[in-house]
Amino acid sequence: MNVTSCTHQAPTSEVQQQAPPSVLPPWGVQHDRNAPQPPVVTPGEPSTQTQAGKPPSDAIVLFNGKDLSNWESVNGGPAEWKVEKGDFATVPGKGDIRTKQAFGDCQLHVEWASPNPPHGEDQDRGNSGVYLQSLYEVQVLDSYQSPTYPDGQAAAIYGQYAPLVNACRPPGQWQSYDIVFHGPRFNAAGKLIRPATYTLFHNDVLAQDHVTVLGRTDGEHEPYEQTPTKLPLKLQDHNHPVRFRNIWIREIPET
Ligand code: MG
Repeated sequence: MNVTSCTHQAPTSEVQQQAPPSVLPPWGVQHDRNAPQPPVVTPGEPSTQTQAGKPPSDAIVLFNGKDLSNWESVNGGPAEWKVEKGDFATVPGKGDIRTKQAFGDCQLHVEWASPNPPHGEDQDRGNSGVYLQSLYEVQVLDSYQSPTYPDGQAAAIYGQYAPLVNACRPPGQWQSYDIVFHGPRFNAAGKLIRPATYTLFHNDVLAQDHVTVLGRTDGEHEPYEQTPTKLPLKLQDHNHPVRFRNIWIREIPET
């Protein structure tokens, strides 16, 4: 039989289409010992209820337990929240505070404790907030045996996503948020080309799994507006003396 007449062989173009996708890493060669080595980071130490932990060696420490020198009032002037015994607390009526430094994509660690004894109920109970880029609120609320609407409880992306679980600790106990945030991107015309995303662990329990932020969280269904790649981190004064400690951030480099 003339092999050229054989019809069960796929044409060349079909063979090319079936070729497996490249699995080469970004630097081009797998297992290349000359590829760039990741930076060495000394890990931190976890917190306890009585002692704040230590951040990783490359973290930017936003609260060192002593003062609010890295923060300012959103209304202008110094941050007038109350610092004491290694933590600080919202002073109702003094307004939101924000970092002096601006941040884009990042890993953020925040610890907070709601007032003890508790006061109020529903949204009027230990309410504050962690706003990446001052625009997208992760709710801080005393949600321990205290119901509210799910997309407004602790670890919610406010008004958008309820947390996967309610991992709240009782009032007065220290709680942690570990957040991975990627900010939005806009093209030169100001059009959104990549929405923001949140991943959040509440007390080490996964509460938000890479959710896509729908827009600003203030008001209702507020759309994105073109913003710089980096903006300050903001904490909310919601008229409740919520305490904070051990706040640090690591910037995620562009890849
Ligand atoms: Mg709030």
